[in-house]
Amino acid sequence: MTTKPSIAIIGAGHAGLILALGLQDKGYQVTLVSDRTPEQIATGRVTSTQLLYPAARGIEREMGLDFWQESAPAGEDLTVTVAGPDGGLDFTWTAPYRPGPAASVDYRVRIPFWMNTFRRRGGRLLIASAGVAELESLAASHDLTIMSTGKGEIGKLFEKDKARCTYDTPQRYIAAVYVDGLQTPQRIATEITVIPGIGEFFFLPVLTITGPANLLMFEGRMGGPMDCWDGIDTPADYLRQAKTLVSKFMPWNADRVADVTVTDDNAVLRGCYPPTVRKPVATLPSGRKVLGMADLVVLNDPITGEGANNAVKCAKTYLEAIVEQGGDPFDEAWMNRTFDAYWEYAQWATAYTNIQLEGPQHVRDLVRAGTQSQTIRQWHTDSRSYPEDFFPAWADVDEAHALIAKHTAPAVAGS
Ligand SMILES: Cc1cc2nc3c(=O)[nH]c(=O)nc-3n(C[C@H](O)[C@H](O)[C@H](O)COP(=O)(O)OP(=O)(O)OC[C@H]3O[C@@H](n4cnc5c(N)ncnc54)[C@H](O)[C@@H]3O)c2cc1C
Repeated sequence: MTTKPSIAIIGAGHAGLILALGLQDKGYQVTLVSDRTPEQIATGRVTSTQLLYPAARGIEREMGLDFWQESAPAGEDLTVTVAGPDGGLDFTWTAPYRPGPAASVDYRVRIPFWMNTFRRRGGRLLIASAGVAELESLAASHDLTIMSTGKGEIGKLFEKDKARCTYDTPQRYIAAVYVDGLQTPQRIATEITVIPGIGEFFFLPVLTITGPANLLMFEGRMGGPMDCWDGIDTPADYLRQAKTLVSKFMPWNADRVADVTVTDDNAVLRGCYPPTVRKPVATLPSGRKVLGMADLVVLNDPITGEGANNAVKCAKTYLEAIVEQGGDPFDEAWMNRTFDAYWEYAQWATAYTNIQLEGPQHVRDLVRAGTQSQTIRQWHTDSRSYPEDFFPAWADVDEAHALIAKHTAPAVAGS
């Protein structure tokens, strides 16, 4: 039996762990490097809202990695609501996720469990904040070194791909708080509310360290009235600010949040970052090459909730490419090819997200058309699993209006 190539993965986040566990399952020797222990992650702060749509959940299930299929509260539907210019509710529609629900498992639950599973199955888990020296040592002792460090500083070793970057600056100020006590309908939806020109609200079910709960996320346009989280530090501050924003911008939901409490003191986050695409291969001082994956190379704003879904799909693409390569070297050409295969998918998630950030009139028309057409509602919901399906309509005014005309009465277009 020939020995399988050895693989080093730096960054034990969503993407790095799926790849590590997937390779381990196929008999590869994997070294996984994490800057935090499982215990530190479990007892640390939340970092995301990590909602997975049905396609990504399906991949995790097929790989035997969805340990929370039963315990994670199911988001059966997508509900989209838009506020009107007078501050009242303009319209709302709901459509079911297919073929099954969306769900969010707090990374403080998911990541430590996966890390311990990797370790229990014989994987080598190193706890270190990897710098260039560690990368050199790993690249020298492994056949392939992959960096999956998300927004970590070390990712700056990878050159920005200016041709693929739309922005140099953050487009939203983001805040989130995990809560108990949110009033929800019996059939739970993932809820998105757009306040045109101001920002977006998200209410999502989540499985967190204290059990099933909900989370509230806020995306404020930079410099606007929802970009108001400076100086918000304690959980009580977060809660107060969250309730204030709900009362001010979606007063029809004020009662639903009246009695919410924070699930635990670390269940709050805030910050902002510029969406960035990087070149997939970095060269270490020794000349050795390392390959980037997931958020490190394609970092989008969370407005569309595609990043964790991308992480799953990137891990699947890289896993298949590694296995297909057999015993052949993982040279720079292979690295570029492997990223290109991922970009074939990720370019659509990126374009979909960036257009959603801008919210042009034809996209607003497409969203409004969901009130009149079940087909269009379902298209919005299904396409979250497969963002390519949003196109060409999402990017093209004529295509958008042709789609609307096909499925609705003519009065919707241009409203
Ligand atoms: C507020 C917010 C809400 C979001 N909501 C959603 C959502 O609802 N749905 C969705 O699909 N996506 C969402 N995302 C995006 C999603 O969380 C990310 O796209 C996803 O976590 C990316 O996975 P990753 O493995 O690339 O990076 P990460 O999950 O960030 O993992 C990177 C890991 O590398 C580690 N690391 C960093 N530097 C080093 C180093 N030098 N040495 C060792 N380890 C290192 C980090 O500690 C981390 O554990 C959201 C993001 C944010 C910020």
